[in-house]
Amino acid sequence: MREIDLHVHTTASDGTCTPRETVRLASEKGLRALAITDHDTVFGHAEAVSAGMDCGVEVVPGIEVSTRYGVSVHILGYYIENLIPLLENVVNDRDRRNEQVAALMAADGLPVDYAEMKKRFGRVIGRPHFGRILVEQGLAESVSDAFARYLGRGQRYFIPRRTLEIDEAVEAVVLSGGVPVLAHPFQYKKDDRELRELISVCMDHGLRGMECRYSGYDTDQVRYLESLAEEYGLLKTGGSDFHGDNKPHISLGTGINGELDVPYAWLESLREEAEKHHCSRKSQAASSPAV
Ligand code: AMP
Ligand code: FE
Ligand code: FE
Ligand code: ZN
Repeated sequence: MREIDLHVHTTASDGTCTPRETVRLASEKGLRALAITDHDTVFGHAEAVSAGMDCGVEVVPGIEVSTRYGVSVHILGYYIENLIPLLENVVNDRDRRNEQVAALMAADGLPVDYAEMKKRFGRVIGRPHFGRILVEQGLAESVSDAFARYLGRGQRYFIPRRTLEIDEAVEAVVLSGGVPVLAHPFQYKKDDRELRELISVCMDHGLRGMECRYSGYDTDQVRYLESLAEEYGLLKTGGSDFHGDNKPHISLGTGINGELDVPYAWLESLREEAEKHHCSRKSQAASSPAV
């Protein structure tokens, strides 16, 4: 039986299950805990925490933030206590990018209306939402196919958006009370030396953990990441990157071919780290002079 999943998207960003549905699914699968890690937003937390209380699943409030470091590097944040003010700009720039994508599609004769998309999909809209529309129009077979043909880098409807710098993202997570973790390290196509450099840069700004188990990572890859995490004194985390029907090959808790298995003990270490961090933040706040 799988225990936890620490990397999960909901309709608060580009997943297709609501926070409540996602927590219920976790409960049906017998998971003890899951972290909600939507892109750029904490909007799904309240509903997920309430659903967690109803069905006895521990819900960790998390986030996933995109940054630029040559390639797009993702930072997960766990036990976020406050909103991250910098993300307001990021979400606004998503809107700017999305409006441009929608306008380009409309100019090509596709019936895409961004105001309608906002009503349907909410505040944090991403390329997978455009992918769904292209699928509905019969222009793509799946969201992945829509990325390959229209939305991915180099395709007609790819328009870049602004992201945080890596140091800003790690520091922003720390300031919001969260524990920053480097997401899916093999996604960046870095060799051992480059990955070590990335880890060092992130650690200089407060990185505390690394995602060692992830959908599609095989035993050798997991072993390598776990030994790297131990060498650097980083906490180990793991999760599926579940997005519901937007990534239908990924299953909550178990990954792609059932390879994912994340121990509950990893969550206990993460929680202890967050508690230490929250206590030191509170004592710092108490000892700083009133202004
Ligand atoms: P955005 O942040 O709006 O530019 O969109 C990026 C998001 O698209 C990522 O977070 C993934 O969830 C999703 N994505 C990227 N590539 C693919 C793909 N090939 N198939 C499905 N979803 C993808
Ligand atoms: Fe996503
Ligand atoms: Fe990611
Ligand atoms: Zn993700």
